[in-house]
Order: sequence, then C-alpha cells, then structure tokens
Amino acid sequence: MPIEFETPENIEQQKQMIQWIADSTMRPFSRELDENEHARPTAFVDALWPVLSGQQASALKKIEKQLEAEANGEAPAEKKSNGRVSNHYLSTMLMVEILSWGDAGIYLCLPSAALGGSAIEAVGTPEQKLRLLKRFTEGDPVWGAMAMTEPNAGSDTSAIQTTADFDEDANEWILNGEKIFCTSGGLALDESDGLVIVWATVDRDAGRAGMKPFVVEAGSHGVKVVKEEIKHGIRASNTVAISFNDARIPADNILGSPEVQTKGGRGFKGAMATFDASRPLVAASALGIARASVEFVKEKLAEEGIEIPYGTPYHKLTAVQRDVMEMEADLKAAYLLTMRSISLLDQKISNPLEASMAKVKAGKATTRITQKSVEILGMMGYTREWLVEKWMRDGRINSIYEGTDQINTLIVARRILGYTRRELA
Ligand SMILES: Cc1cc2nc3c(=O)[nH]c(=O)nc-3n(C[C@H](O)[C@H](O)[C@H](O)COP(=O)(O)OP(=O)(O)OC[C@H]3O[C@@H](n4cnc5c(N)ncnc54)[C@H](O)[C@@H]3O)c2cc1C
Repeated sequence: MPIEFETPENIEQQKQMIQWIADSTMRPFSRELDENEHARPTAFVDALWPVLSGQQASALKKIEKQLEAEANGEAPAEKKSNGRVSNHYLSTMLMVEILSWGDAGIYLCLPSAALGGSAIEAVGTPEQKLRLLKRFTEGDPVWGAMAMTEPNAGSDTSAIQTTADFDEDANEWILNGEKIFCTSGGLALDESDGLVIVWATVDRDAGRAGMKPFVVEAGSHGVKVVKEEIKHGIRASNTVAISFNDARIPADNILGSPEVQTKGGRGFKGAMATFDASRPLVAASALGIARASVEFVKEKLAEEGIEIPYGTPYHKLTAVQRDVMEMEADLKAAYLLTMRSISLLDQKISNPLEASMAKVKAGKATTRITQKSVEILGMMGYTREWLVEKWMRDGRINSIYEGTDQINTLIVARRILGYTRRELA
C-alpha cells in the first residue's frame, strides 16, 4: 500500500499554528505544570480551543455528509490521488506530534472528545455521532474521556466488573462499579457538556460480547470522581478514579445497539476498533517527546562544538555521534511505522496490525531515546533545570496505556502468525 509523505498545503499551515501554540503556551509552563500536578493548563486551553473547535466542526460536517451518503445508498467517498479518502488522521497525527513536542502531559488536556471520541466514532449510531460530537465544536471548552480500566481489569479488558442494568420503568440504565486511571475524566465530569465513555457489562454470562460503552455525562446522578492519581510522568494530565453507585444513565446513552450478539456484534470488537484509531495517535505523541529530546541533545552538543557529521564512515565517528545517529534512526523507523498506520486509517483500510506495531515501536524508541539523552547530557540531564529528565518520565507512559508493549506485541504476533486469542495468550 503506497504512503504519501508530502504534506498538503493546508496541513502545513496548520502545523505552523500548532507550533506557535506549543512554543508559547506549552514549553513555558512545562516545569510549573509538572510540579503542580492537576493544575489547569489555562493558557494552552484558551489558545487551542478556537482552533480545535473549528477543526472539530469541519470534521463533523464531513461525518455528516458521509452518513447522509451512506443513508442514500451512495457509493463511498472517492479516494484522492494519494489513495486517501481524507487527510483527517494525517493532520491529527502531525498536530499530536507537535503538541507532544511542546509537552505531552499538557497535550493530554486538550479540549476534545479524545479517546471517548474514538469510541463514539467506532461504535455510535449515526444519530449518536452527530449529537455527541457536536458539543466539541462550539461554546466553552469541553472534554471527553474513556473509562475501561478497573482495579481488577487492566490488560485483560474482558475482566471488567462494572455492570449496567436496564430499569424499564424509568427507561434508564443503572451503572455500578469503579473505573481507575481515566485520562481527563476529572476535566470531562467537571464541566457541563463533558462526557466519559464508560465500558460496562450488560450480561456477565456473555463474556466479551456483553461489554457495552455508555455515555456518562457531567452531572449524572451517582457518578463521582473519587481520586486524582499522583504520577511519575505526564503529570500535567488529569488522571482520576470514578465511582458509579446506582448511576442513572438515559436509555439512549448506550452507544450502538443494546443487543448482545455473540457473533458479529460491536461489544468487545467496538473496544478494539477504538484502539485501532487511537494507538497510532499514542505513537505520534511518543514521537513528539522523542524529537524534543533528540533536538535538545543536538543543541547542547553543538554549544560544545560537537556536530553530527552525517555521511562520515562509521569508524571515524565518536561514540556520542554514533549514539545520536542511532537515536535519529530509531525515531525515523518509528515515524515511518506510525505514518503507515495513519495512512491506512485515512484510506479507510483496517489497520490493527499496523496500529499495534507503530505503538510498540514508538513507545520503545522513545524510552530508549529519552534515557540516552539524559545519559549523554550527564549530570545536567538529570537536573530539573532542563526538561530532558521530564521527557524521560513522560515518554514511559506510551508503553503502558492503550495496551502495554507486551499486549501489543501479542497482537502483532497473533496477526502475523495467524493465531487466535485462545491459541496465543
Ligand atoms: C497515566 C495513565 C493514564 C491512563 N489512562 C487511561 C484511560 O484514559 N482509560 C482507561 O481505561 N485506562 C487508562 N489507563 C490504564 C492503562 O490502560 C492500563 O494501565 C494498562 O492497560 C495496563 O493495565 P494494568 O496497569 O492493570 O497492568 P496489568 O494488566 O496488570 O499488567 C502488568 C504487566 O503484565 C504484563 N502483562 C499482562 N498481561 C500479559 C500477557 N497476557 N502477556 C504478557 N504480558 C502481560 C503487562 O504488559 C504489564 O507489563 C491509564 C494508565 C495510566 C498509567
């Protein structure tokens, strides 16, 4: 499948605007927001919201057109000369990369539907997509989130215990359980119009097929943020635990169909489809952190008169020059895999293998690159005077959330070797 590397003119312009936001509203606040976990990145949100809400509005218009065409039985949208149906994921990836270069923790506070949006797009009915995504296009900043993880269900998402029972008299779903480590969950539940997509089981006997996503809106009865996590990295991001005690959710806030279909249903498959779109973006975030680190190391080496002599035979390089070249090669390999998974998304081609490959590669590369950066920069690299030690901490998350490296490697192995989940666990 061909990958088009040229960036369209309008995306180039958007990149410049995003770079300005990263330079002026992220980097200057990086240290302060790292040290004051859970403080709000107001300058970033105020600068980004007008840009982002406009982009989200035009993305929603495209979804609207596509849904209309599908409803009228019209042919799928024509592919562009580069094979893409749209450049939506390419532009999102480049934005995420630059914002994470600015600050990965602050980036996670961006006012958008975030992972919740991926779930809505993957599982929601046409009416739900239009109704729910609209709130991220106008008015005051709004946050979305997704809550899957529970105290006893991390990698094994099918172990979730949160239940959803239907109360026919009230025409409402009743949710009970606890979700932990929900990114932006506090932001979403704090503001009116915010929402968290909560995965719960409607039928424990049905296993994975019984898992369904529910739209839990800010202000819902019985929903409470019970803890703010204190973290190792991405400390500017908001990570919370949420309890559901007979939480009441309107009947039509179940995403997609309430029916439990053991074959061909969107229960667990819906969760997996959410990750196909979000894992490449996690990879993009990792790339941004790694690029920040490599650039900084090269800048500091240049101040000491050490340049990187590209094209020089290997045996004539110093150890530090080799290290930097290896870091750059690792970053480029991760970038290419990420571009591939993104390109498939824009071509509307299934990408679970490529999404997992990109995420593992980018996560590992970023961990290696940021650690090496601290090493090369010596004691100053380890101080809080420079941001490189923070990037080392921030980078680590990309190998943990949205499927750990081990889980994504399992997915890659299963896909390549043709094993089922049961055959290779
Ligand atoms: C900062 C942060 C933000 C997060 N945000 C969200 C969010 O917004 N929404 C959400 O739902 N969750 C979120 N999470 C949770 C995250 O997705 C989980 O931490 C992750 O899925 C791993 O689960 P666990 O921590 O329970 O680890 P476990 O599943 O207990 O795994 C522990 C270790 O065992 C390994 N392991 C587990 N199973 C296997 C296996 N079959 N084969 C080989 N190795 C295995 C894992 O790779 C890992 O190294 C977040 C987590 C963090 C730290």
